[in-house]
Amino acid sequence: MSNTRGYKDKTTGRGSEDTCSFCGAKRSEVPILFQGMDGANICSNCVERAHEMLAESQAAAAASRGKRPDLKFEKLLKPQQIKEFLDQYVIGQDDAKRYMSVAVYNHYKRLLSRDAAKAGAKGGTEADAKAADVEIDKSNIVLVGPTGTGKTLMARTIARLLQVPFTIVDATVLTEAGYVGEDVESILSRLLQVADYDVAAAERGIVFIDEIDKIARKSDNPSITRDVSGEGVQQALLKILEGTVVNVPPQGGRKHPDQKFIQVNTKDILFICGGAFDGIEKKIAQRLNTRAIGYGVRSASAVDRDNLMKYIMPQDLKSFGLIPELVGRLPVLTYMQPLSKAALRSILTEPRNAIVKQYERLFAMDGVQLHFDDEVLDYIVDKADEYKLGARGLRSICEAIMIDAMYDVPSSGETRFDVTLPYAKKKIEGANFLEMKQVG
Ligand code: ADP
Repeated sequence: MSNTRGYKDKTTGRGSEDTCSFCGAKRSEVPILFQGMDGANICSNCVERAHEMLAESQAAAAASRGKRPDLKFEKLLKPQQIKEFLDQYVIGQDDAKRYMSVAVYNHYKRLLSRDAAKAGAKGGTEADAKAADVEIDKSNIVLVGPTGTGKTLMARTIARLLQVPFTIVDATVLTEAGYVGEDVESILSRLLQVADYDVAAAERGIVFIDEIDKIARKSDNPSITRDVSGEGVQQALLKILEGTVVNVPPQGGRKHPDQKFIQVNTKDILFICGGAFDGIEKKIAQRLNTRAIGYGVRSASAVDRDNLMKYIMPQDLKSFGLIPELVGRLPVLTYMQPLSKAALRSILTEPRNAIVKQYERLFAMDGVQLHFDDEVLDYIVDKADEYKLGARGLRSICEAIMIDAMYDVPSSGETRFDVTLPYAKKKIEGANFLEMKQVG
């Protein structure tokens, strides 16, 4: 399509300037005029409007289909079963897995209880009436842990077995209204999209907000400079977490005045927030030290200095720069351990879609049996540890070792390829890992 070629409109004869065949606007009046076959044109305003109408009609169709699957208590996976499922994909992180399993299970129970209460109000069974007595509170979660320890993996894995819509959004793109970036409401646009615009389903969904630490207040005195991505965003997020009716732009991004919104009530949406909170150990240590000097319950010597994260408390999130109200709305706080070398080693081979298994599969498709020597796996772990990249580094290191083989082997006619230590070392030493070190 082109919007540059001019032509004289044969049907309307409106002079030499092209017009939109839908709204009649002249080329000079619209940002872009797209030219189609046989003199038909459409302007960018009409394209946008059509897109919105399409989203609205999809929403209406989804709502009328009422395709929300019924939750049944008997069919719910119990927390132990959820954890067993997580174990297949995520190595270690037992505490976080237990918290997540319970949170998801309780989320379901809360939804069921509300359904029952609604039924009770309409004259349901005695049990339904009882359910109306006690309202179960929502327990949004915050997952704290260094980068590359499996926070997103955990969220994605949970998503595989969920019976409610689930989406992962990144807090770094969110900014206060009026600034470059996305409005906080766009979080819910994603949820609506995965729920196929079925508002009722989206209102029971789960949202994983990654990198929540990036919207922490940068300084204790926010008035010195405008903190575009900090406190204002936290305030906006707070409302959504608390439960409110939000006007959601169906396509996300920035709200604009002529847009049609879809109203979403966030009361029953479960929010799981993840963040690395770099440097939070210092805040934890400070708190523990102060307590030890005063009338501390735990003496300073009993503290496991190598793993301060396990002592994390809500007030540490406040010291880091989250506003107290937001911390209060995230009552379940759990942490991810930094991965030990043994854990990194397991990650290479054990999970269902472990990296080594993936390479074996890739080679098998060319009829080649791939084998990694044990010492190569240890070497990969040592390098990942050295670069302080957590499990994230494993993949890049493997790629650096395997790229040449992946290029050559398919045309070589070989049926077996052995990755030996000298081979791996040669590839890594040849690769430019300086950049990776800097990232870490
Ligand atoms: P985070 O969100 O904590 O920064 P990710 O979940 O994105 O980390 O992890 C990056 C990659 O590292 C994942 O795709 C996965 O392959 C691997 N990984 C990280 N932690 C684990 C773990 N505990 N078990 C298995 N794989 C892991």
